[in-house]
Amino acid sequence: MAGGEREKKGLLMVNTGNGKGKTTAAFGQALRVAGHGGRVAVVQFIKGKWPTGEAEAVARLGDAVAVHRVGSGFTWKSAPDEVAAAARRGWRLACELMNSGDFALVVLDELTYLLNYGILSEDEVVRALRERPASVHVVVTGRDAPAALLGMADTVTEMREIRHHFRKGIKAAAGVEY
Ligand code: ATP
Ligand code: MG
Repeated sequence: MAGGEREKKGLLMVNTGNGKGKTTAAFGQALRVAGHGGRVAVVQFIKGKWPTGEAEAVARLGDAVAVHRVGSGFTWKSAPDEVAAAARRGWRLACELMNSGDFALVVLDELTYLLNYGILSEDEVVRALRERPASVHVVVTGRDAPAALLGMADTVTEMREIRHHFRKGIKAAAGVEY
């Protein structure tokens, strides 16, 4: 094992797949890091600015977990041109947070959609992750994580849908979906 590899403590963890639990697991990881006194930055690339239970809850932890919601209307169904620029600004912010040395964990929530829509290239994302400071853990979430990301990840978890209440017509509920 190369010397650099041995010194690298920060893990890249990817939560992907079609089942429920990718984002909520990332917030569970954030709580765990925060409980050990580490600071966490979460960058959420999609969804609007409306409040979610997870963002409200971690705000009560003070500055232990900072949530940056950089999506401006970008959803998993469409990525109109006018929001691609906002997504790219969000990615630049994510890189600054990863490289700042201020955070033990950086969560890149729904990053895979930026790759799948071609807003970011796999090369630039792989390079930024590889070049981040050696101590920083990163969790990436989102469906259809590309092979390049899976290939470099230390941990990959696929959430597989066996059943989801949505199929019974149960609409998004406070405390369950947001
Ligand atoms: P969660 O935020 O609950 O951890 P997730 O991050 O795995 O879910 P996403 O793929 O980001 O899920 O989907 C966003 C929203 O769709 C969430 O509100 C989630 O509850 C809901 N959802 C997740 N999986 C499914 C599914 N298989 N069918 C329908 N809705 C789903
Ligand atoms: Mg999610």
